[in-house]
Amino acid sequence: MKRLPVFLPMRNCPNRCIYCDQVAITGYSDYPSPEEVRVEASKNVEPLEVCFFGGSFTCQPMDLQRQYLSAAASAPAGSCIRLSTHPLCITSEVLSLLSEYPVRSIELGVSSLDDGVLKRCNRGYSGRVALEKISLIANGPGNIPGAQLMTGLPGQDENSSMKDLMLLRDLKGNGKMELRIYPCLVLRGTPLEGLFLSKQYIPPGVDESARWAGRMVRYASRNGFDILRVGLQETHSLMQGVVAGPHHPALGELARAFAMVLSLLEENPTGPWIADQRQRSLLAGHGCWGFRELERLSGLDPKRARDLVTWTG
Ligand code: SF4
Repeated sequence: MKRLPVFLPMRNCPNRCIYCDQVAITGYSDYPSPEEVRVEASKNVEPLEVCFFGGSFTCQPMDLQRQYLSAAASAPAGSCIRLSTHPLCITSEVLSLLSEYPVRSIELGVSSLDDGVLKRCNRGYSGRVALEKISLIANGPGNIPGAQLMTGLPGQDENSSMKDLMLLRDLKGNGKMELRIYPCLVLRGTPLEGLFLSKQYIPPGVDESARWAGRMVRYASRNGFDILRVGLQETHSLMQGVVAGPHHPALGELARAFAMVLSLLEENPTGPWIADQRQRSLLAGHGCWGFRELERLSGLDPKRARDLVTWTG
């Protein structure tokens, strides 16, 4: 389904997270009005997904939420709405309002469920509260819950991220849950930049981040999560705003390559392996990064490791 993204950068966020600058990430600095959203949504003839990203949608006054939702609902029949918001602004009252409109997916920017990490990032809630809010959506009037997680945050490590995923898996059960995984980047002008410059925060490198996110992808796909995105969308303003951190336009591809390597090694630690031809570029792309990881982890000679993969399909 075609998407109509509507960016509301840092709109009504209850507090400033230390790493965040949505203007740098999205390249948008203004908010479109509900009327502008209505004009764009009603231009289309095919159903579309109207997506409100970049801010805390449900922290806006109820009346303004209603105006945006009603504008999005003017899209052709069969369209739906996706929104991202802050965990603290999910209540039964809010879910009841959203249920009056074709809102299908509600993504919560939880970042982490680790209290120490949340505190250092000034997120303003605990892991327990974030889980309660996701649970409220999952058990509410039919919306698909989503969690936006981050890697490389201050005080966070891979174990912390894997614990987050296990908690989400327990909450999800056999139900649906969507997932996005973003790396933490040091952006100019953010409080995190200060920590980085004073050496109180050292971001992980690209390889480490790709492996970190790759482990999460592997776990999430084995446990029935719907992985919507890994890595940030590359934009000109992001390129200009990054001071440090694992900034790589194909970080998501590298993470998926690492997840594939893990899956091959789980099947057989030393090969031979059978893999789908359509996934070949995952191992062969970006200077054969995936193949090199396969060689590194299997301990096999580089040529031998490549020869042991048979491509099918
Ligand atoms: S990370 Fe999310 S909640 Fe925090 S300031 Fe940015 S947009 Fe707002």
